[in-house]
Amino acid sequence: MASLEIDLIKRDNPLERVMTEHGVKLQRRGGRFVARCPFHDEQHPSLVVYPDTRSFYCFGCRASGDVIDFVRRADSVDFKEAIRRLSNGNGNGFEQNALPQPARLTIDDQLILAAASNLYHEALLRTEPALEYLDWRGIPRAVARRCRLGFSDGRSLRPFLQRHRLSLRRAGQLGLLRPDGSEPLAGRVVIPELRDGQCIWMVGRALDGRRLKYLGLSLPKPILGYERVRGQRRLFVTEGAFDYLTGVAWNLPICALLGTHVRAERLAFLQRAHRVVLVFDNDEPGQTAAEELAGTLGHRACILALPADVKDLNELAGRPGGSDAFFRLLREMGNASKEDGHASSQ
Ligand SMILES: [Zn+2]
Repeated sequence: MASLEIDLIKRDNPLERVMTEHGVKLQRRGGRFVARCPFHDEQHPSLVVYPDTRSFYCFGCRASGDVIDFVRRADSVDFKEAIRRLSNGNGNGFEQNALPQPARLTIDDQLILAAASNLYHEALLRTEPALEYLDWRGIPRAVARRCRLGFSDGRSLRPFLQRHRLSLRRAGQLGLLRPDGSEPLAGRVVIPELRDGQCIWMVGRALDGRRLKYLGLSLPKPILGYERVRGQRRLFVTEGAFDYLTGVAWNLPICALLGTHVRAERLAFLQRAHRVVLVFDNDEPGQTAAEELAGTLGHRACILALPADVKDLNELAGRPGGSDAFFRLLREMGNASKEDGHASSQ
């Protein structure tokens, strides 16, 4: 690949943005940024990002390089795949151009995804630390079953696929296996996106705080929970996978954008909604994204402001009386159901 192309990729994918999308919390320090390094366990930030040279360096573990090096390491992919991910205009390991419908999954892909999703789901139900993690995040067992949440033990997928004569090579391309047979999603709670019961994508959430929080498959990133909101006239849009699961536990018609960067064409599914309640994270990127989205949707959108001391919907749910507080905020925001009734009578 020509160095000009590489320069363009670096320019179009600022390290700060790509790192933020990977869950790294950057703090500005003059002309630089510092953060707790995602590549080693630490309490105090020793990773520095230098925007002027588009590079980073960790004084703790000496991880260093440019945005391509970061994605290679963060997503456990090779140079070519890192370039491909970044060329899709999104450095967070997901592709951005997600269609609401499953995008060109072959029968083999579907079988591999179904196999992995079933294996992971069964593993979750007998993995105590994973179940404890869900308890801690306030996700009921019934939601774990309904959403077919899973857990990767990091070693069972390859023999399982082999037994079912499914392609290990293709599983690797999908982001489920590394060449050595290990699993990128190892040690993570896995949240699949289901369409007609078929898994079309999944994202893994690390149980501990050390690693990159979220890691998705190498397939177009979908709207998580698309089927819950499809055709709904009143619906909720949130940012994160666990905010989504919280909404499912509360029986809301809710979906998650899995990030804050959303292209307009991904929002076509909102066209017919009369009212879209945006419940984004209580931080600057979240609020900016909510305002931008509200601007795009016009009068149909309203932003639900979470209490100042919680960072997102899932955290609110973990508070005593959290769900009461949420539904009270919803009522106070402007009697949603009345407006819905008004809109439907027109
Ligand atoms: Zn480090």
